[in-house]
Amino acid sequence: MLKKMKCPSCAAPLTIKHRFVKLVTCDYCGQVLLLHDTGLDPTGRTAKLTDIPSLLYIDATGQLQGRRFRVMGRLRYQYESGFWDEWFLTFEDDRPGWLVEDEGEYTFYVKETLTSPVPPFETVSVGDVVTIAGHQVFITEKGRATIAGGEGQLAFTIIPGEEVKYLDGTSGDDLISVEYTADEIELSVGRAVAHDELILDEEEF
Ligand SMILES: [Zn+2]
Repeated sequence: MLKKMKCPSCAAPLTIKHRFVKLVTCDYCGQVLLLHDTGLDPTGRTAKLTDIPSLLYIDATGQLQGRRFRVMGRLRYQYESGFWDEWFLTFEDDRPGWLVEDEGEYTFYVKETLTSPVPPFETVSVGDVVTIAGHQVFITEKGRATIAGGEGQLAFTIIPGEEVKYLDGTSGDDLISVEYTADEIELSVGRAVAHDELILDEEEF
């Protein structure tokens, strides 16, 4: 399901790689573009990333916990003590997932639909136990991050410069992450990835 389009800023060809894609960074001019039914809209922002060594890169393929994936995009979050990257993956069965990379450690997250109200960010403190969509979550971290940049194609519409408030916590063996942006709240449920559970295919050149 590839959809061929043109960058409205520089006219470079762009191929939309997946039906979940909502945000595209032009490989040529770096313009961040929002994908609508009617076409691509420039956001006026560009998103160059400082290159930090990683196993992963855009269009890399491999296996994660035995399932085949392709890397579609990356978003970098900057916070007080540094940054983390979120890699947007799609799998053979067409499902999306997010691999968070933080200082060489990986956590694999899937987004869950929120079925009940989430406590407001301001009311939650580290050490609290709160109920979020049926999960009893022990809050381990609370903070604010800024989107520092991105590349490739992404399934959400937070753009560089935007602030995200986040809560991290644990619920049994699950890692829970809640992100509050200007217009939505997203719940992700994840598990730590052991280093031998992430296998990349050899690069083809
Ligand atoms: Zn362009």
